[in-house]
Amino acid sequence: MNIPSFDIAFNFVRRDMNMNFEEFRNICRAKSVSFSKNWLMQPDGLSFIITCATDNTVKMLCEEVAVHFQNDRDIFIRYEMIPRYSIDYLYASRYCKLLIDVDEMDLPGGNTTAKNAFEIVLCEDCKYPKFSSIKQPLLIKSISKKTLKSKYYALHCSNGFRLFSKNLFNELKNDLSNYVDTGSVAYFDCPNKILDDVIWVRPQQSIGHNYMRDIVKKCKTCERPIIIRGKIERRAFLVCYDFYDSITNDAPMVLAGNWFGHLAGAGYDSVTWDVLISGNIFHKLCDFKARNIVGETKTVITKNEYRVLVNLEDAISAIFDARGLLRGRGV
Ligand SMILES: [Zn+2]
Repeated sequence: MNIPSFDIAFNFVRRDMNMNFEEFRNICRAKSVSFSKNWLMQPDGLSFIITCATDNTVKMLCEEVAVHFQNDRDIFIRYEMIPRYSIDYLYASRYCKLLIDVDEMDLPGGNTTAKNAFEIVLCEDCKYPKFSSIKQPLLIKSISKKTLKSKYYALHCSNGFRLFSKNLFNELKNDLSNYVDTGSVAYFDCPNKILDDVIWVRPQQSIGHNYMRDIVKKCKTCERPIIIRGKIERRAFLVCYDFYDSITNDAPMVLAGNWFGHLAGAGYDSVTWDVLISGNIFHKLCDFKARNIVGETKTVITKNEYRVLVNLEDAISAIFDARGLLRGRGV
């Protein structure tokens, strides 16, 4: 079993208001409650974080909380789970999210979005585009001077495209070149001038279905999804995770099962497509200090790990529920 350690954030709610620290402390004093050292007060003064390492610690601490407050008709508990990934955990992970801290560079807004046309349509009825068949070059907004000064950088785009500086891609070429398509890039206002030091990269393969996304509408002719929306996860312990039904794939960089968004069928449809990288690639991006790469990323959870988390969630719900502490469950 390979789930990360995690913290639980508790809010104690009285008369539908989150209690602040003073109020909570007074109640604890009145009850002669003292909690173990695992309890930490958040800077906002409203949440209490307990750091947990194992399933058993979690259940034990939740029992401790529940016992103290079980006879208080006035008090309810809300909680959420915060995964804590160590950097070594991320480096060893099969896949983690490639998070890039900039807006999508290929979407200038307004009606200019049609400038990046897809050259191939896979279905005449819904005009489902072949997402990799972009008319080259891919047109983007201007890259900031700050970014251009960096030797290694990455930038965000829609439709599964990402931009890498050529220097960065060259370092990763041996790992990635058999698994991604690449192409040239130019600015919207200067479409004939290919940029020298940046290319687009798009994974060729994808992994299984993302559990957090629902297909809302399919094309009647080709049955390809046209609208995909996020699923509302009601289990407080699972909202922080992305989990997939299958992640068997050798590729070091893949698209995540489903995109998110709506295909209009004309022009340049923009959908949100998560890109996943192996822990090994993430390690290299960190070593190169690639600009805009977010270091606090998420690993991808498999079906089996998902079941473990669901069982844990159910066990904790049961602890609080049995003592009438669960009104307004979740944060
Ligand atoms: Zn279709």
